[in-house]
Amino acid sequence: MRRICDEGKCTACGACVQACPQKCIEKIVTKDASFYYSIDEKKCISCKKCERVCPSLNSPIFNKAKKSYAAWRTDSTLHFESASGGIATAFYEYAVTQKMFFSGVSLNDKFEAHFKLTDRVENIKDFKNSKYTFSFASDIFDEILNKLKCGYDVLFIGLPCQVAAIKNLVRITTVKGNLITVDLVCHGTPPPIYLQQHIKAIELKQKQKFTKCFFRDTKFDTSNFVYTLYTHNSEKPTYVKFVDENDNYQIGYHNALIYREVCYNCMYAKRERVGDLTIGDYHGLGKLKPYNHEKINVSCLVVNSDLGMNFLDEVQEKVQLTLYERPLTEPMEGEHQFNRPSVAPKERKQFIELYGKYQDFEIAADNTFYKFKQKNAVMKILHVKQIKLKIMKAIPRCVKEQGKAFIRRIRG
Ligand SMILES: Cc1cc2nc3c(=O)[nH]c(=O)nc-3n(C[C@H](O)[C@H](O)[C@H](O)COP(=O)(O)OP(=O)(O)OC[C@H]3O[C@@H](n4cnc5c(N)ncnc54)[C@H](O)[C@@H]3O)c2cc1C
Repeated sequence: MRRICDEGKCTACGACVQACPQKCIEKIVTKDASFYYSIDEKKCISCKKCERVCPSLNSPIFNKAKKSYAAWRTDSTLHFESASGGIATAFYEYAVTQKMFFSGVSLNDKFEAHFKLTDRVENIKDFKNSKYTFSFASDIFDEILNKLKCGYDVLFIGLPCQVAAIKNLVRITTVKGNLITVDLVCHGTPPPIYLQQHIKAIELKQKQKFTKCFFRDTKFDTSNFVYTLYTHNSEKPTYVKFVDENDNYQIGYHNALIYREVCYNCMYAKRERVGDLTIGDYHGLGKLKPYNHEKINVSCLVVNSDLGMNFLDEVQEKVQLTLYERPLTEPMEGEHQFNRPSVAPKERKQFIELYGKYQDFEIAADNTFYKFKQKNAVMKILHVKQIKLKIMKAIPRCVKEQGKAFIRRIRG
């Protein structure tokens, strides 16, 4: 087996798999359950297409950000159904009006995150909200290229490494339609098996089977990052964990302990962006310029190209968005992913060693995350977050909004 790009640089974006005419690119799984792609030399005809599309060998063009907004869906019901400002969903709704094809990610019944390409409005609900696990983008590269070849326009929303893959594939293909790309700010994705093993462990403990999983459940306001599991047909989650409630996956995810190794060297964690537009949670809002508007579930929306600007202008004609232009550097100073990849805490080493030995997420996490659990326990004793959340949950949203409007008025 021959590597396509250097060890530690393969994001498993799948561009090479798509480009290979011999279908001789194979997935190699490492001891920590990460994976990379490699060439089966027996079948390889040395056409080098895999190397030509590999974003780690041939960097796609990065765009310099042009404008930045604090942004959200004006319709408050739709707004709060999404991960942050509901901008991705707004883009999908616009795409439907234009008969464009669009991509999104949903979890399947094995809790694996897969991309789908569609032009149907009924698929949008499954794409809403963040799935904090590796997602398989290469599933739809073929379909995207075919639609573009037939002259359809395609909207691709995905993680920066996935945007880079589709851009490189389009570069070597003759297409008639336009591809518009939106990259999500991303701090890293764990291998899919970690989530699967974690859910299995809870199923065994609780003697029930889960069918749905949320990382930012809308029932608790997505801005609180409440992790929940649901049994079949249940409206109420059976497993509910707030960020400070010692769920192993939450701890691993939010403390950068469990991403794939390549995410710690991410070449997309910078201010120049690979997509025409970038969306993320707005961190640091109001730090560089006074801001007196909505602060919960606000997205940062960064425009990186003329294509992106035109797209946004057109979206605004069809879908109501609230946009406040902000200094370009504000979201970039507020969110480390605009400046550098996630940094692994020292405990990661032990986690990886234990995972390598036992091939079990729960065992590795239970024996590594105690420091984080102790910190959470202290927070819990102080009850600060829960009390605040309970009060906020008890107040109806319309009252909260009236209260915020009142504060804005008195602040002038
Ligand atoms: C793995 C991951 C890590 C992230 N890390 C950060 C971060 O560090 N800082 C930050 O500011 N923002 C981060 N985000 C972005 C943030 O969580 C929101 O996704 C973003 O603000 C869009 O919100 P929205 O309300 O517009 O999206 P919604 O309208 O809720 O739509 C969700 C969008 O996310 C896509 N999506 C969901 N899960 C995945 C996945 N696993 N892979 C690819 N696409 C996916 C959906 O297809 C859809 O386009 C991350 C998102 C993901 C998926």
